Amino acid sequence: MANNRVLIIGGGPAGLEAAHNVADLGLTAVLVEKRERLGGTPISAQYAALTHGFRDAEEAFDEMIARITQHTHVEMHLNSRVVGVEGKAGDFRVRVENHHGAHTMDVGAIIVATGFDHFDPARETQIYNYYEYPDVITIADLEPMLKAKQVVRRSNGALPERVCFIQCVGSRDRQIGNEYCSKVCCGIASKQAIEIKQLVPSCKVFIFYIDMRMYGYWENEIYWPAQEKYKVNYIKGIVTEVIQKGDKLLVRGEDTTMGRPMEVTMDLVVLSVGMEPSKGTKEVAQVLGLKQNKFGFIDVPHESLDPTATSIPGIFVAGAAAGPKDLDDTISMAGLASLRAITAARKSHSN
Ligand SMILES: Cc1cc2nc3c(=O)[nH]c(=O)nc-3n(C[C@H](O)[C@H](O)[C@H](O)COP(=O)(O)OP(=O)(O)OC[C@H]3O[C@@H](n4cnc5c(N)ncnc54)[C@H](O)[C@@H]3O)c2cc1C
Ligand code: SF4
Repeated sequence: MANNRVLIIGGGPAGLEAAHNVADLGLTAVLVEKRERLGGTPISAQYAALTHGFRDAEEAFDEMIARITQHTHVEMHLNSRVVGVEGKAGDFRVRVENHHGAHTMDVGAIIVATGFDHFDPARETQIYNYYEYPDVITIADLEPMLKAKQVVRRSNGALPERVCFIQCVGSRDRQIGNEYCSKVCCGIASKQAIEIKQLVPSCKVFIFYIDMRMYGYWENEIYWPAQEKYKVNYIKGIVTEVIQKGDKLLVRGEDTTMGRPMEVTMDLVVLSVGMEPSKGTKEVAQVLGLKQNKFGFIDVPHESLDPTATSIPGIFVAGAAAGPKDLDDTISMAGLASLRAITAARKSHSN
């Protein structure tokens, strides 16, 4: 039986790492990616520089991609989707579809690495006017601007004199049903604030936050330098409204440290949108029959002790498909998922 094959769905950071591990350990990694290009959201959304070390995202992912495209044990299916599955751990039969048609393949285990989507600010209950004002953008919109080294006001092409970030847009918000913290946006806003100051040193940058949540290297490598070296202003406050005033944006809310209403003008407002399960994650959960948690991420029944197991034996999950994650956590999870998947495939192979 052809059980020395592991199917990996999604070719982002998690899928690339899992495919590399599976192939290096001598099994065949079958990678199915719905887009025509590998690299996941950092590449499709044109992220600029990644933590750690502000490394160029494209360069970093080109290396990861090269590792697997040159590997003899990797079988690649781009522009493809999984549309059906039957069988059980050690002996799954999967149906994959692309524009040439559909075909079936046998695999011993499956890793779901279908990632996240950026929260759409249209669903926000606060009035930020994202779709109305060109100078209200998101952290995802800012990445290609940073990549092009052109942080300008979209309304008039001028360099901004005052930029602010609004944290927790679409996260920690019970009204819209996303009460979870997206984990990375405090760090990303701080990273982007540094990059703005490097490109436009005269610009004043503000970050409005409920509370800053940094962990690991984000604290030392990003948060403290942003404050101390780059003089980014952190203001504990809740912003409720962004409205046009002349050619500026008026940001209204409450300064919660001072306990008083706040009104400030800005040239550019950046919404720190959170992470939601991708459409692909929800689709794959349906096709494979996997349980999803109440937010739509893949449910992990024993998260602390068995962080890659799903509701179905032999099917594992890695990366942001299971919830918000930075690259460190994504890559570690992919390492574990590949070991678990190999074990599941081998066990049944020897039975
Ligand atoms: C603005 C922003 C900047 C960031 N910058 C950093 C940073 O500097 N450092 C850091 O550590 N983290 C950063 N992150 C977090 C980082 O992007 C994630 O940790 C990482 O992308 C998660 O990888 P993933 O493979 O799980 O998901 P993704 O990157 O979303 O990749 C998922 C892949 O699966 C594919 N897919 C989806 N559905 C299907 C399907 N049905 N069939 C086949 N393929 C499918 C997608 O096309 C995609 O290629 C940032 C996040 C944001 C929002
Ligand atoms: S990481 Fe920061 S901005 Fe993102 S949801 Fe958590 S607290 Fe809010």
